[in-house]
Amino acid sequence: MAGLKRHHDGKVAGLYDLDKTLGRGHFAVVKLARHVFTGEKVAVKVIDKTKLDPVARAHLFQEVRCMKMVQHPNVVRLYEVIDTATKLYLILELGDGGDMYDCIMKHEGGLTEEVAKCYFAQIVHAISYCHRLHVVHRDLKPENVVFFEKLGVVKLTDFGFSNRFQPGKTLNTSCGSLAYSAPEILLGDEYDAPAVAAGHGACCPVVHILVN
Ligand code: ATP
Repeated sequence: MAGLKRHHDGKVAGLYDLDKTLGRGHFAVVKLARHVFTGEKVAVKVIDKTKLDPVARAHLFQEVRCMKMVQHPNVVRLYEVIDTATKLYLILELGDGGDMYDCIMKHEGGLTEEVAKCYFAQIVHAISYCHRLHVVHRDLKPENVVFFEKLGVVKLTDFGFSNRFQPGKTLNTSCGSLAYSAPEILLGDEYDAPAVAAGHGACCPVVHILVN
């Protein structure tokens, strides 16, 4: 029985073979996987739905809704969603070069300003595109920027705290990652979503860390 379960967990709905772990977050584990027929490599974000409270479930719904909308060269593409009784699998475009947090850790002296500027511009393009669609990411941080080395680009991922906003109207859900939060979010105030994401929120620490 245990053998059967392991076999089932290693395959996602019979379509993908799961391989090594690429990363972990609070809510999910992200695995390298291969399509069984085409051999195409993807990243599969596996979310254990049994561990989610109603708030986390609502965020998960928004993550899928927003990721389906956003299609940009600097945003990780959501290819497919596989829903089972206990797990949700997000089949994602595979980043082949790790995330920006690992990159920062590897480069103790920082990157050159030239290289940092290039990555930063790509992140800003992604954020600006999302805001044009009235989607706000709300969890910008180095762990959520993934390298695509073969393509020579970085892409934004993890829309787990994303939401739609109406221009001119504030949001009030306090969410994101504590270390990167804007003051108004920490204080529990209402906030102008695009301004918080593009300004003192999380975008600036990324560039500070990159060049310092
Ligand atoms: P958090 O707790 O920060 O909300 P999470 O549970 O929502 O995280 P993700 O941030 O989506 O999970 O993914 C965790 C890690 O997996 C990322 O930091 C990154 O290292 C890796 N990862 C995510 N998506 C991809 C991808 N498409 N390609 C390669 N690696 C990825």
